[in-house]
Amino acid sequence: MTDPLNALTVDVEDYFQVAALAEAVDRNDWSSMEYRVEANTDRLLELFDQYRVKATFFTLGWVAERSKELVRRIDDAGHEVASHGYSHQLIYNQTPEVFREETRKSKHILEDITGKAITGYRAASYSITQQSRWALDILCEEGFTWDSSIFPVHHDRYGMPGTPRWPHRLTTDKGYELAEFPLTTLKLPGYTLPIAGGGYFRLFPYWFSQWALGSINRQGQPFVFYLHPWEIDPGQPRLDVKWFSRFRHYNNLDVCEQRLEKLLARFKFTTMSHVLKERGVLDEPVLRQSRANEINPQTSHG
Ligand SMILES: [Zn+2]
Repeated sequence: MTDPLNALTVDVEDYFQVAALAEAVDRNDWSSMEYRVEANTDRLLELFDQYRVKATFFTLGWVAERSKELVRRIDDAGHEVASHGYSHQLIYNQTPEVFREETRKSKHILEDITGKAITGYRAASYSITQQSRWALDILCEEGFTWDSSIFPVHHDRYGMPGTPRWPHRLTTDKGYELAEFPLTTLKLPGYTLPIAGGGYFRLFPYWFSQWALGSINRQGQPFVFYLHPWEIDPGQPRLDVKWFSRFRHYNNLDVCEQRLEKLLARFKFTTMSHVLKERGVLDEPVLRQSRANEINPQTSHG
């Protein structure tokens, strides 16, 4: 058996937009912060080019408005552009009306720049939880066909423990179908460990991440890996936050890029929609109301 293709993903946002630092930065001040996301994303583009891999860039609408050329460079290099919403608000703190408005706005911004349909979505801080499952209906109604916002773990800010761990088709509360690529976890006795990238990739020793992600591939399954442009930027301005947030954000920034290179050399990567299609969960174009509900509510797809 050949090694599975995994999804390489980047959440394109700047260091001051991260939920862990929200206590130190008022969103009204975002425009006055030192803007570093362009240079950091360009560095990732260089690395991906060097290792000849394609990735999916979930791009924040707020950033895309300011960095149209960057979005074009991502698209021109053959990567996939997808949506990371507009303002990086946690979804369970938004009303469905505001969520719909922002989702539509960010989709239009990206579609105007790339001239392509934007059909993939990832929520700020994976904030689609049991409490905000309604967001999945709205994504379908707004023309999205696939999503990667669900983290099947316990966490203070996100998580849907006990939900499927592999790419699958899910049926929303209103009966739409959506391809979902949950953030990758490792099943341990009595515990589900998040291993999909970001802060976890910086926290665990590299050998552990490689082993854990490899174990997913050895089960014949693909994993999703995610990173933020600011995670390879140890020179970013330091913000004054409580120790736990400080640890989460700044831990091991200086070794992240070299770890990423090892990972790119070790595993096979491509865009998320490519993996979803290969796995047969993104075979249908869109948006038709599913009849699965009436026939058998428990049926899982794929
Ligand atoms: Zn984000």
